[in-house]
Amino acid sequence: MVINIIFTLLGFLLMELAGWAIHKYLMHGILWKIHKTHHKPSRSFLESNDVFSLVFGGVSILLMWLGHGNFDFRFWIGIGISIYGFSYFVLHDLLIHKRVKGMKMPKNSILRGIYKAHQAHHSHNKKNGAVAFGLFLVPFKYFKTDKS
Ligand SMILES: [Zn+2]
Ligand SMILES: [Zn+2]
Repeated sequence: MVINIIFTLLGFLLMELAGWAIHKYLMHGILWKIHKTHHKPSRSFLESNDVFSLVFGGVSILLMWLGHGNFDFRFWIGIGISIYGFSYFVLHDLLIHKRVKGMKMPKNSILRGIYKAHQAHHSHNKKNGAVAFGLFLVPFKYFKTDKS
């Protein structure tokens, strides 16, 4: 049903928006102690910051579990958050940060913009003054082609 697709897309979108706010106001705020493990110049294979993925994954599983009886909106929002988590992992962890050796960023202009925005986020690796906290929704300027 179309409504299920809408709830799934909504789950994806809500996760990007919530993720943006959590990243900006909590991870670069009171939770910096955990998040800074992702901003160290040399990161270990597993970072304390990975705990956030477990929390968001838990929220998605909880929603799917709550809504699975009659497959109501909670189930589909949970599915959307799962798809978000998977896309985030592939894009952010595998392609951008190359946590698995040999992964390369494809030369697609949208992915390039996302990559540049996230590079900008990591450019000074400090608690305050960082930019581009979202992953998929980033300022348009990063998508402009650079002529250099
Ligand atoms: Zn950050
Ligand atoms: Zn990152």
